[in-house]
Amino acid sequence: MESHANLYATVDLGAVAHNVGVLRDRSRSDVIAVVKADGYAHGAVPVGRTALAAGAVALGVAQLCEARQLRAGGVDSHLIAWLHTEETDFAGGIADDVDIAVSSPRQLQRVIDAARSTGRTATVSVKLDTGLARSGVSPDEWEATADLLAAAVAEGAVRLSGVMCHLAFGDEPDHPMNSVQSARVDAAVADLARKGLTPELVHIANSPAALTRPDLAHDAVRPGLSVYGYSPVPDLGDFGLIPAMTLETSISLTKKVSAGQGVSYNHTWIAPHSTVLGVVPAGYADGVPRALSGRLEVLINGRLFPNVGRICMDQLVVDLGPDGGGVSEGDRAVLFGSPAADRAPVPSAKDWADGCGTIDYEIISRIGSRAVRRYV
Ligand code: PLP
Repeated sequence: MESHANLYATVDLGAVAHNVGVLRDRSRSDVIAVVKADGYAHGAVPVGRTALAAGAVALGVAQLCEARQLRAGGVDSHLIAWLHTEETDFAGGIADDVDIAVSSPRQLQRVIDAARSTGRTATVSVKLDTGLARSGVSPDEWEATADLLAAAVAEGAVRLSGVMCHLAFGDEPDHPMNSVQSARVDAAVADLARKGLTPELVHIANSPAALTRPDLAHDAVRPGLSVYGYSPVPDLGDFGLIPAMTLETSISLTKKVSAGQGVSYNHTWIAPHSTVLGVVPAGYADGVPRALSGRLEVLINGRLFPNVGRICMDQLVVDLGPDGGGVSEGDRAVLFGSPAADRAPVPSAKDWADGCGTIDYEIISRIGSRAVRRYV
């Protein structure tokens, strides 16, 4: 897609590869890179390919249709998908050779039925609810699930690939629930062993656990956020991760305004003196939170300029100061990025998240489709 607004989400694939290396080193384990939601909006196929080339053993996604997109993009590695609905096409997932992580005996039965009807063996993981109380097999359904699984494996309808769960307190490394959840997975694996079943890959650790609790890793860790370079526990450091995405555009217009001129909708900012404004062609439809109006800074020519007035759907305005700050139309404007890459005080996705009371996961995954993804 071309961008008439010159708006780019530039993704540094070298940073992705570096981050996978950091995760392997810190967790002392294999890495399953999570590329759901189009690779946290970085582009699932390029990120996935890069992560695999950097040593990831598999890719994780939520939905089977996301796995299908990876297959369509030429990714032929181990793919795990763990979020299904009544609409999910399990036969398609089996045909795509996706590891289908089931969250209930009913889901498992549907996968078995799809395997029987297609005459193929389904690759299945079991996703356990060990305390998050979200998706995953509930404790009261575990026995039925394990029995069904054992019968399906004996029949040849299913091959058991993995056992997984998701942590409720991964970002609180010392929280006792982490070990409780880990022990519940161990108990389930022991139950399966008594039925003659051995999963190939047991994995429970998300980014924070991968970086801080190598003891929880089991056979592999399953990070998402940190693959993209963000520390999930910033108070504990950045772990040498490098943010991969830079959201950048160029100044589309500069204009002089007089003292007293209100700027943008409802004139929430009034120029206190004559000044020069710069129009930045990016707005909330592109993932710039409107809640950051008046609290966002944009890096232009190595200097930060404040946003003034309301952030709109497609544009926002910065105050370049009475002398125009030496900024011309067409100059590069960086909204957020990697301090390492820009060697300047560039705002980060974490700054944005802090500024509007959310998490960097939400900021990056909402970068809109008008921002053209380009890879360096
Ligand atoms: N595993 C599952 C099941 C997830 O839903 C997610 C993301 O929410 C992850 C792993 C990756 O988590 P994070 O991005 O915190 O590393």
